[in-house]
Amino acid sequence: MANNAGDSTRSPGFPGSAAPRAQATVYGHPRQGPDRELKKAVEGYWAGRVTAGALYETAAELRRDTWRRLADAGIHEVPTGDFSLYDHVLDATVMVGAIPARHRAAVAADSLAGYFAMARGTQEVAPLEMTKWFDTNYHYLVPELGPDTAFEADSTKPVDELLEALALGHAARPVLVGPVTYLLLAKPAPGVAADFAPITLIDRLLPVYASVLADLRAAGAEWVQLDEPALVQDRTPAELNVAARVYRELGALTDRPRILAATYFDRLGEALPILAKAPIEGLGLDFTGPAAANLADLAKVGGLPGKRLVAGVVDGRNVWINDLEKSLATLATLLGLADRVDVAPSCSLLHVPLDASRERDVDPQIARWLAFARQKSTEVVTLARGLAQGQDTITAQLAANRADLASRAASALTRDPAVRARAAAVTAADTRRATPYPERALAQRERLGLPLLPTTTIGSFPQTGELRAARADLRAGRLDAAGYDERIAAEIDDVIAFQEKAGLDVLVHGEPERNDMVQYFAEQLTGYLATRHGWVQSYGSRYVRPPILAGDISRPEPMTVRWTRYAQSRTERPVKGMLTGPVTMLAWSFVRDDQPLGDTARQVALALRDEVLDLEAAGAAVIQVDEPALRETLPLRAADRADYLAWAGEAFRISTAAVRPDTQVHTHMCYAEFGEILAAIDDLDADVISLEAARSHMQVAHELTGAGYPRAVGPGVYDIHSPRVPSIEEATELLRAGLAALPPERLWVNPDCGLKTRNWPEVHDSLANLVTAAHTVRSELTEHPTT
Ligand code: GLN
Ligand code: ZN
Repeated sequence: MANNAGDSTRSPGFPGSAAPRAQATVYGHPRQGPDRELKKAVEGYWAGRVTAGALYETAAELRRDTWRRLADAGIHEVPTGDFSLYDHVLDATVMVGAIPARHRAAVAADSLAGYFAMARGTQEVAPLEMTKWFDTNYHYLVPELGPDTAFEADSTKPVDELLEALALGHAARPVLVGPVTYLLLAKPAPGVAADFAPITLIDRLLPVYASVLADLRAAGAEWVQLDEPALVQDRTPAELNVAARVYRELGALTDRPRILAATYFDRLGEALPILAKAPIEGLGLDFTGPAAANLADLAKVGGLPGKRLVAGVVDGRNVWINDLEKSLATLATLLGLADRVDVAPSCSLLHVPLDASRERDVDPQIARWLAFARQKSTEVVTLARGLAQGQDTITAQLAANRADLASRAASALTRDPAVRARAAAVTAADTRRATPYPERALAQRERLGLPLLPTTTIGSFPQTGELRAARADLRAGRLDAAGYDERIAAEIDDVIAFQEKAGLDVLVHGEPERNDMVQYFAEQLTGYLATRHGWVQSYGSRYVRPPILAGDISRPEPMTVRWTRYAQSRTERPVKGMLTGPVTMLAWSFVRDDQPLGDTARQVALALRDEVLDLEAAGAAVIQVDEPALRETLPLRAADRADYLAWAGEAFRISTAAVRPDTQVHTHMCYAEFGEILAAIDDLDADVISLEAARSHMQVAHELTGAGYPRAVGPGVYDIHSPRVPSIEEATELLRAGLAALPPERLWVNPDCGLKTRNWPEVHDSLANLVTAAHTVRSELTEHPTT
């Protein structure tokens, strides 16, 4: 490729230096450190073992190490301010002074303790609400705003971290949550009208950003990055107008660094012409996955004359090596569309683990296909060099990359002919139960003989310290497999005896053998990979290690039959088989990028279909396939949702449709916002669905029946996210409210979700009250029959 570098163009008003074209950068980086040092320091501080000073020192060391490694790898401009002790949206809340009233005293008394009080709550005050950062598995703390919110700039953290990096000699670019995204992610504060729109505060917020930008400029920032991922979602014309005004006004400021608006997770769509025309100096666009549409859209708006384009061509949310030649082709096209093209991962590297080279247990053949944060940083450096200096300067890297990609494509792991043939042979009949619901319901009533308003739970019982210790002992060799199995069997005995005594109708085995509802299955399926160090931040100090869907998926042997059969042998009452559904398996894993998600989902579904049939053959009359992630994986853009819901629903039905008419299929979903996917829930054709409903007072039951949902529903009557024990009266009231939406033959009685995070005394009392409430309402029904 020819070296396209000419005279580097500068934005008017900026005395920039003659920088070479095509530099490498990243928007953000994992925070935890190679051995989760940050987690240890933060939790140590909470426990009183680590002083505030020591925590700050650990944090500073981690930042230094990150910047040095990025710079050594060849990253030209390192990000600052993306680091956080808990969450970057909470940091933005501090920066704009939007401390909720209930936390102000704590923050004033001790800023660090107050910061964590906002994040985690205290005995006296509730924390900020936490929710998912777009469609990732990272959770942020939701800003709480109202008509009375008075913002006040506090640029301490962004300025200090910039100064730290500059003092170390790095070219650094502060990263802030953009003002539009900040307001669009906020919600009305407690006590504020639910229809209050935080975006209406924009005129109050802008001066605060202006002041932070001025402070950053004074501290030596040449560029600032404003993250605006909320603009890749469907936005109203009014919101788009706000975005246009914000970037016009920020652009018009005289005392500021150059502005790079970074967008990621999807295509920018209608917001692209707005940011392209705004008087700012740079725009970051995602060119991976569905966001690849940005390429054609950018050409349509005439490119970014006079601007710096940061091209996100390396997938920042996945663990696979990049196709360097393909990315170079994209970059070559982009060269014609912007003044300067820099190379970056598609989004912050926060969403991938730190370093693939530490995965010593992974087959070296397969390890070559993996790229975590460090490897991705190297990839963007390579691409930037190829772009700036010509492909002949990276021939070795290109050859190695070509060989790695070829080895992946040809591997027996990624291509199992038997799995592929089976997936290709799925017929429409395989995806639908042979018998319509009304007939199934009759057959199931006959087989199960359950009372009206049957009681059940969602699957897990408290995961006690002893259980976790037994698992740790097993891993460390202090306990042998037989000893471990004995512990599990004893736990199941207790859980079954407890449920019988409590008077529950459909029992569960309690899931004591499962470390995690995805990992447990991933470990047993061929084609799935576990990591040892692949931690990613879920929220605060909580990190998870998602397994990797690396190859074609098959099930060498039954995964759950043994313990389900054992549990059933201890009781006359039906025990529910318990599986994690295909969509949730994908949602909480790293997925393949070499085939459509729907193809991977179908493979997982076929493995689960075999498991379902094995459970049925082992005598299970009720089988639950959990899909808590169905709603959260919904694509960000409405236009992409029908396609997703089609393959997701089909995968669920492939897992469940093969059972006999008198085998009852349950499913379970958490989270309350089902409005958009009611039709898709119906299309799952599960006989019974349990849902979170306690906090919303059964609202979801009304929504479902209002939409004509014809099957049985268990709207939760026990909020398991809280240590509170619901009273008999409360549960009774909720059930009566449920009966206003559903006929008694279609109403089930259960908690909102699994009980694994609760303790035994709470579970004991809550389930006793739940069963009593069911009995009360049942007897009301037989005394005053309504149907
Ligand atoms: N069966 C699982 C449990 O009870 C479901 C968990 C979930 O919905 N997240 O733990
Ligand atoms: Zn749940």
